[in-house]
Amino acid sequence: MTRVPPLDRLGRPLGVLRLSLTARCNLACPYCLPDGVDPPGLLSSRQRLAVIEAAVALGAGSLRLTGGEPLLHGGLEELIAAAGPLRQRGLREIALTSNGVLLSAERARALRAAGLDRITLSLDGTTGASVGRMAGAGGADPGERARRGEVLLAKVLAAIEHARAAGFDPGRGALKLNAVIQRGANDDQLLPLAALARERGLELRLIEFMDVGNRNGWRPQAVLSAAEMVERIGRRWPLEPLGRGAHGTASRWCYRDGGGAGSGSGHLAVVASVSAPFCGDCNRLRVTADGIAYTCLFAAPGSGLDLRPWLQPEPDPGGLREALAGRWRQRHDRYSEERQERQPQTFHRPAHAEMAYLGG
Ligand code: SAM
Ligand code: SF4
Repeated sequence: MTRVPPLDRLGRPLGVLRLSLTARCNLACPYCLPDGVDPPGLLSSRQRLAVIEAAVALGAGSLRLTGGEPLLHGGLEELIAAAGPLRQRGLREIALTSNGVLLSAERARALRAAGLDRITLSLDGTTGASVGRMAGAGGADPGERARRGEVLLAKVLAAIEHARAAGFDPGRGALKLNAVIQRGANDDQLLPLAALARERGLELRLIEFMDVGNRNGWRPQAVLSAAEMVERIGRRWPLEPLGRGAHGTASRWCYRDGGGAGSGSGHLAVVASVSAPFCGDCNRLRVTADGIAYTCLFAAPGSGLDLRPWLQPEPDPGGLREALAGRWRQRHDRYSEERQERQPQTFHRPAHAEMAYLGG
């Protein structure tokens, strides 16, 4: 039995488990492009719990539930409730990343009651046209796209209020907004998104467009760097740097005018995984909905460890822990740093597993 939490070959501990519950999604954001179907052999709730248990035993204090769209998974609340007792063994938080479209008032209350600590909602624009475009809604017709985008935007804005009313307090970091910013696609939404988040007292996390998967047409020119995002927003609302916490992916800033109604809310965060990689600090394990463990968001398809031999027919907790610990000890991923060390033009870009499987 592994008693000492493993370190990988670069001395990094395991701190976060990002568990994808489904590869399906109700949206089709072009920068992510999910398949629309789940792979065969989805894990059962019992098997998922065994994976969570093993990760917690190896040092993961944070469980982040993701997808695809995790709200499409009917067993979400039960899984959260079942993971609750692991708080006695080192689990400190259970969080969810969702596009929010399906987050009704009732669902938000059910998630809170089940023991969910935090929700991050993704929203890439403040107009029907920009939301429709970034969510891949409405096809090629701009009018239809804007109309569908309006509906989605209204749902996400309602979801923010449902989450707040259910007790996810943005002032305590329990409710945040994610936005992927793509140059030439929605970079005109930077200031409007910041204004929207400030008005609602939410932390806005701006994410650089990443070369995850093989379908999103990523090119370096489409990346708006975190530095440029901060510069543009700072020109309108001056910012003060707060730094990047240990093992955090986001550098945080606060508004000098105190915008966003105090108590730590209203902050801005940027995730600079392309322009300023943080591989040296990365403590994330990703497990797909069908039980494949990946140790990097940019891993090659097929390079993950299939955990099913330790999950079927019944979970084998000891074997699973050892298998995961062994894989973690072998880990030496530092893809984003390697990308940065070479010129984008000469960097040989290997095939990547798709985002909807890995969960962001
Ligand atoms: N469906 C949920 C959602 O959209 O929040 C959860 C899964 S999604 C894969 C998790 C996060 O990854 C979202 O905030 C999404 O915006 C982000 N994401 C997806 N593809 C990305 C890309 N190519 N570059 C940067 N962020 C991306
Ligand atoms: Fe769906 Fe989230 Fe991917 Fe958009 S980013 S397609 S909402 S999984």
